[in-house]
Parts: sequence; structure tokens; C-alpha cells
Amino acid sequence: AKEQGGNTYRLYEAGMDQAAQDILALGQALEGALERGELSLFLQPQVLMQEQPRLIGCEALLRWQHPQLGFVPPDRFIPIAEKNGLIGRITHWVLEEACRIWAGWRDQGQSPVPIAINISAAQFQEPQWLDAVAATMHRYRIPAGQLEMEMTESSIIQQPESVIALMHSLKALGIKLAIDDFGTGYSSLSYLYRYPVHKLKIDRSFVNRIDTEDGRAIVGAIVAMATSLRMRVIAEGVEEQVQSDFLASHGCIEAQGYFYGRPMPVDQFKQLLRPLGTP
Ligand code: C2E
Ligand code: CA
Ligand code: CA
Ligand code: CA
Repeated sequence: AKEQGGNTYRLYEAGMDQAAQDILALGQALEGALERGELSLFLQPQVLMQEQPRLIGCEALLRWQHPQLGFVPPDRFIPIAEKNGLIGRITHWVLEEACRIWAGWRDQGQSPVPIAINISAAQFQEPQWLDAVAATMHRYRIPAGQLEMEMTESSIIQQPESVIALMHSLKALGIKLAIDDFGTGYSSLSYLYRYPVHKLKIDRSFVNRIDTEDGRAIVGAIVAMATSLRMRVIAEGVEEQVQSDFLASHGCIEAQGYFYGRPMPVDQFKQLLRPLGTP
């Protein structure tokens, strides 16, 4: 057993190493997290890069605050939720919460912006997903184009036929589909022609390397490809002026990153919205 600090040692089931034990414990803590109200969505601005950056949307990012474990980052608990089957309930909750937030803006006289939510591969295997999305959008009266779904290449290249059909159905509901972390998958690019994809999100790791020749080449190639396929393209993880300058001058005018705003609580994000009726 690994030392936990002081003289305390964690007991564990025979045959399980510490890492597996931690994952199990985290998974168990996550079980009741929704009911206990420990999950929340933070919103990160997406902007048009110009003299006065203009807010054009946001990404909803899960936050989990556990009374004992403290803040657990999504990179830690999402993979666990994907393995233990909790991701389905979590994603339904995210969908509901995102629609509730959007409807709140509208009902409180703010100009709403589209909200993007993250979708795991498992969602494509859930038969009720499409109906749940349709019902939730209907209940909150979310117009076409105001809800986006981000998914990674690897999650959509499995079972292409059923996934393509589902993506078309989502598109018919007015949902915009984006490929997240674009460029990090190993798939052939030919799928881009076959999937009803609206937007590519250039992975942060490439934006991060804009100070290198290779990084610039990759970013330039992705932007050129998106443009020629008539897809929108947004850069993730923009942290510096030089990155935004390079992107804008190469035809990528949409960005998300710390340079423009960190993920923030919903109340704080609301301050960025304009009152309805203003240009
Ligand atoms: P992602 O979908 O690629 O989300 C972008 C991540 O990059 C977020 O991390 C965000 O806080 C971070 N980020 C944004 N701008 C910058 C920047 O300028 N610099 C740096 N260094 N980081 C930046 P976060 O919130 O920790 O989320 C991590 C991942 O967890 C997400 O990556 C996504 O894969 C997953 N995740 C978060 N929320 C959800 C969710 O509701 N459902 C699912 N399935 N996955 C989620
Ligand atoms: Ca994302
Ligand atoms: Ca991403
Ligand atoms: Ca990611």
C-alpha cells in the first residue's frame, strides 16, 4: 500500500493496486454526486477575434466539488464515469442544465449565445438519447442553432453507419456538431466528407506550438481544410496575442482560451451577455 501521509495506510482489496483502488473510490463518490448537487457547469467564452473581441458562444465544462475530496478535475472523473456507466446520467444532466441556462438568459432579457456541450462516445450507443435531446429542447423552447455538441474523432469513427444516422437526426433537430480536439485522432480524414460536421475545434496542443514552424504548418493546414470543406473552425487554448494574430491572419477568426476568458460560473458569464435588443 502507498503511504497516505502520517502513519495511516489505506486498506485495500487483495489484488487491487492503489491506482485501481483510487479509481473505484472516485467512482463510488461520483455515484451520488448528481443527487447531492456537487456537479455544476462552468462556461468558457468563445469569441470572434477582432479589435473588440465579440462573444459568439460558450462551452459548458463540468465541475465537481466533493466535500472531502475537494475539486476533482473532469479529466480525472469523466474517464471513470465512461467506464462505470455513469456518463449517461451525467450527460443527460449536462443537457438539461445547458438548456435551462440558455432558457434563463432568454427569459431574463439577455441576448443568449449558443452553448456547446461535450458528448462521450457512449452516448451514441444509447437508444433514448435522440428522444431525450428532442424532448429537452422542446421543453425549454431552444431554437435551432443554439445548442452544439462536441465530440472527438475517436468517438465517432466507431460504428460509422449508426453514428452517421444519429448525427443526421441531431442536425435535423437544429443541433450543430463540432469535432473536438481536432487533429489528435489517428483516423483517416476522409470521414469528414461523410459526417454532418459543422465545426472543427483545433486542439490546444497545436495552438500551443504556433511558435514553431511545425505547429504553424499544422494549424494552417487544418484551417485551409476546414475552409475548403466549408466548415467553421475555432482554435482552442488561445493564451497569447501572437497566437490569435497568427490564427486570424490565416483565416481562423474564432477562438476559445484563457486569453479571452477562463471557464467561469454561470452567474459571472451572464455579465458578458448583452441586454436583448442591443446590437
Ligand atoms: P475539452 O473538451 O477539450 O475542454 C477544453 C479544456 O481546455 C477545458 O479543461 C478548459 O478549461 C481548458 N482550456 C480552455 N482554454 C484554455 C487555455 O487557454 N489554456 C489551457 N491550458 N487550457 C484551456 P477542463 O474544463 O479541465 O476539461 C477537461 C476535459 O474534460 C474536457 O476537454 C473534456 O474532454 C472533459 N469534459 C469537461 N466537461 C465535460 C462534460 O460535460 N462531458 C464530457 N463528456 N466531458 C467533459
Ligand atoms: Ca470540448
Ligand atoms: Ca477540446
Ligand atoms: Ca480534450
